[in-house]
Amino acid sequence: LSAHYLAEITEAAQSLCGHRFALMLNAGLAVDPDQASNDICDGVGLYRTEYPFIVRNQFPTEQEQVELYRTMLATYPGKPVIMRTLDVGGDKALPYFAISEDNPFLGWRGIRLTLDHPEIFLVQIRAMLKADIHANNLHILLPMISELAEIDESLRLIKQACFEVGDELGLELVRPKVGVMIEVPSIMYQLNELASKVDFCSVGTNDLTQYLLAVDRNNARVASLYDAMHPAVLRALHQMGKQLQALQLPTSICGELAGEPAGVLLLAAMGYDSFSMNSSQLAKIKWLLRRVQLTELQALLHDALQSESPKAVRQKVHRFLEQKN
Ligand code: PEP
Ligand code: MG
Repeated sequence: LSAHYLAEITEAAQSLCGHRFALMLNAGLAVDPDQASNDICDGVGLYRTEYPFIVRNQFPTEQEQVELYRTMLATYPGKPVIMRTLDVGGDKALPYFAISEDNPFLGWRGIRLTLDHPEIFLVQIRAMLKADIHANNLHILLPMISELAEIDESLRLIKQACFEVGDELGLELVRPKVGVMIEVPSIMYQLNELASKVDFCSVGTNDLTQYLLAVDRNNARVASLYDAMHPAVLRALHQMGKQLQALQLPTSICGELAGEPAGVLLLAAMGYDSFSMNSSQLAKIKWLLRRVQLTELQALLHDALQSESPKAVRQKVHRFLEQKN
């Protein structure tokens, strides 16, 4: 990583015009305590809890999960840690839980699987709640929500888990903040209802792109068609951003697009202001956001939205980026 990006890693993620962004980390297995400290980031925007499940040869016990989650929460004291409930299925398989389907990305994935196995969901939520007793920075995120009933059922189970853990520990537990991933197109058309049920949302541009374009995100044969910079994807994100702002629902973006220089500029222009990314991207994205004005980004977005192809969008944004580097 070039030294000039790293030189500003502890500075504020603030544009030239004074707009402050939240930059958060996507986490899987390991936590990097160096990045957790002081002013580098604003917390964990996406902890993919499936990774510690995938590397084992059986489901981690409740106590094992408590310890994992406690470490994660304690690494970011006073900052939000958004823990996503188990998101397996699709391309992510557990070695000890076989799923065989013709269309795994349209099948038994994420919340669909855990609501069919509430014992898995409840153990995980109970572990998160126990891990958070002293830390108090837990946020719970639900993956692959495609209909409102899944939110209602998840909230019911979370309430039950709060009650059970409270009873076990002799405490009155306050339910942590609960949010949903926006990564299935259907839920983009139910934002009003969604906002009345949850505390925040996180936009998963990886799956949202896959489902909007009907392109398998891992299929090499159609990889050239998979591009989050497709004008249709950008228009969807733009419209949704305006609606979410009107609803005042706290929103962050946790798909790869948020950690990509070209992507984050357009997302910032749309009004999104919280981005979660792999730790390798953080310094570069912060450096870049510190060199832009929102008005110039809005002009760039306007131009990008008129483009006919992802390639044309990328050319426009890269021309802009070249002036900044
Ligand atoms: C996404 O879909 O954009 C996302 C962040 O989740 P994952 O990549 O884990 O599916
Ligand atoms: Mg996803």
